[in-house]
Amino acid sequence: MIVCPICNEVDMITYKCNECNGEMVDKGRVQEFMDPYGPQHPVVDTEGNCLHLFECLNCRKLERKNIKKVSV
Ligand SMILES: [Zn+2]
Ligand SMILES: [Zn+2]
Repeated sequence: MIVCPICNEVDMITYKCNECNGEMVDKGRVQEFMDPYGPQHPVVDTEGNCLHLFECLNCRKLERKNIKKVSV
């Protein structure tokens, strides 16, 4: 079975903010949020990826990340 490691709590993934180098943490799947970027960036959820919203703990920048699903 292929699952998203974040949705299934297999792995905790964080990113470095490219604005301030702060820590970006998962805020959940993009579908569960109001879209801050508007309709010009349609939500895509493909078989192999799970789209998550990350927020920088330092500067509050929001960024979408495609999380690669893993086999369990
Ligand atoms: Zn997920
Ligand atoms: Zn930041």
